[in-house]
Amino acid sequence: IKKIGVLTSGGDAPGMNAAIRGVVRAGLSEGLEVYGVYDGYQGLHQNRIQKLDRSSVSDVINRGGTFLGSARFPEFRDEKVRAQAIENLKIHGIDALVVIGGDGSYMGAKKLTEMGYPCIGLPGTIDNDVAGTDYTIGFMTALNTVIDAIDRLRDTSSSHQRISIVEVMGRHCGDLTLMASIAGGCEYIITPETGLHKEQLLAKIKEGIYKGKKHAIVAITELMTDVNQLAKYIESETGRETRATVLGHIQRGGQPTAFDRILASRMGAYAVDLLMQGEGGRCVGVQNEKMVHHDIIDAIENMKRPVRTDLYKVADKLF
Ligand code: ADP
Repeated sequence: IKKIGVLTSGGDAPGMNAAIRGVVRAGLSEGLEVYGVYDGYQGLHQNRIQKLDRSSVSDVINRGGTFLGSARFPEFRDEKVRAQAIENLKIHGIDALVVIGGDGSYMGAKKLTEMGYPCIGLPGTIDNDVAGTDYTIGFMTALNTVIDAIDRLRDTSSSHQRISIVEVMGRHCGDLTLMASIAGGCEYIITPETGLHKEQLLAKIKEGIYKGKKHAIVAITELMTDVNQLAKYIESETGRETRATVLGHIQRGGQPTAFDRILASRMGAYAVDLLMQGEGGRCVGVQNEKMVHHDIIDAIENMKRPVRTDLYKVADKLF
């Protein structure tokens, strides 16, 4: 191969820029030409593709978001749209594509590979919900953002003996909520893995009040329930002021932490290694500190993310 492309797709995550930089700089050091595709699969379909050089990725390692832009582009499910995308890549003579994104983006990469166009997936999402990797690019940065928010809520909650419910991102994965709860010292964790059991939660909160706790912080993963309704329910049952805080898109932004920058750089370089070895249809992960690669199809369909029962146990003991 002589020319490769790189794009970011789906929800953005801090560290995506560092991953693009990793792909570009590692590609150049292998003597490849590297092309950036703007706004994910949408830009690919619209042929918004530009050659990148060393300086195209100067001063981006520390920046959140993605300078290539990202997009949701449901039309990419249509085979004709994908055929046009492949045509565009061929016009530029690009032999292979690195896709940085989450599960949905992997699906697009898988389908391109099935149509004979080799793609490598890099896990870029704050949700940590991609199989075949211990951590996704962006997760650790988002975790720090959530902890910072929880620390602030703790200050004000304990001053007012208030109960705080904090809604954390993660879609259907509770990792961000779980780890933020441990690091932030939250009293109660509700994730897709634990389920929401209102009576149990109420009983635990009441027990905390009885023990003399000044505040209660409940961390809950998004999409599980209406947190404002939950707050009303807890307030009416306990008589304590209860407020819900939805952290929202704040969690997606900010400078990537050292962990994410290093992970993204390693993964970007590894993706280029794989392409140089003639691999396609693979996705990159880090497992037990080592770079690994799996079949994209396996990552999407067959492999499950392990539930961190070890961490749930620790959290349980420390409450
Ligand atoms: P993420 O990659 O963060 O999970 P999405 O689920 O929104 O985000 O997926 C990103 C993009 O990947 C979609 O907007 C679409 O362009 C593409 N995509 C998702 N699912 C498919 C699919 N089944 N076939 C082809 N492309 C897909």
